[in-house]
Amino acid sequence: METVKEYCARRKNEIKDMLSKLNTKLKLVVVQVGNVEASNRYVRNKIKDAQECGIEATLLHYDENISEEELLQTLHVLNNDETVIGYLVQLPLPKHIDENKVKLAIDPKKDVDGFHPMAIAVPATPLGVYLYLKDQGFKFTGKNAVVIGRSNIVGKPMAKLLLNESMNVTVLHSKTSDEDKRFFVNHADLIVVATGHRHTLDNSYSYKPECVIMDVGINFNDEGKLCGDAEGDLPVMFKSPVPGGCGLLTRLSVIENLVKLFEANR
Ligand code: NDP
Repeated sequence: METVKEYCARRKNEIKDMLSKLNTKLKLVVVQVGNVEASNRYVRNKIKDAQECGIEATLLHYDENISEEELLQTLHVLNNDETVIGYLVQLPLPKHIDENKVKLAIDPKKDVDGFHPMAIAVPATPLGVYLYLKDQGFKFTGKNAVVIGRSNIVGKPMAKLLLNESMNVTVLHSKTSDEDKRFFVNHADLIVVATGHRHTLDNSYSYKPECVIMDVGINFNDEGKLCGDAEGDLPVMFKSPVPGGCGLLTRLSVIENLVKLFEANR
């Protein structure tokens, strides 16, 4: 399989080439509230990725004391700005702002993160994982997929995408017994792990040698280094690295979703 880094670089070039043939420049707006360090990094990277693809990317950065009403008013303006193809609001938001209200205030036609229930776009992380596997020729039909984690932004939409590809999908969560987890992992052709806990998958499990593991987790090890939910040396055909794996795919999906919104709305 092509590494995730190679794939993302190639896809960005393909998108850049495709967009350069259009008569219009796509515009992405990133809305950020406050100064959470991780968010600063994500926002910087999203803007950089977009610019590398020839997309005009603008940051609207607000003080963390902005009121919920003011923020919602900003979204209303973006919803009505015809030059803005899509936008996202970087999460998390300060506690005094209701994230659900914000997600629902974004016009589904402009919702690059795909968080609105009526969104055209698919949430970025599962979309990125899915498009990568598809691009790499992964054979979905009739194979066993195990999704570990059932959040609204990763596990559930991931399971739906894989089910739509006719996989036999099992979703595991914190209430799954250890015995059952071992059984399903042992029979999996594809595992997408997104629990937020290091060592969710380790060498104590049995894996099919041809199993592919997509590791969504973002954790820190005892030395403070970034690591995933699965250990790095598992006896499987492929495991996406952390860093350099699902994080890059998530970033790429913002662009893929923007292009999709542009095509859906023109
Ligand atoms: P949530 O905390 O919302 O969900 C975690 C899920 O994992 C829950 O469904 C929970 O079960 C389940 N879970 C927790 N512990 C276990 C366990 N031991 N065995 C089986 N299931 C378990 O997290 P997110 O989905 O938002 O994110 C998951 C991870 O992915 C985090 O590390 C996050 O930082 C990372 N992430 C990475 C992204 C990227 O770009 N690479 C993007 C988004 C997330 P239950 O429902 O029963 O509580």
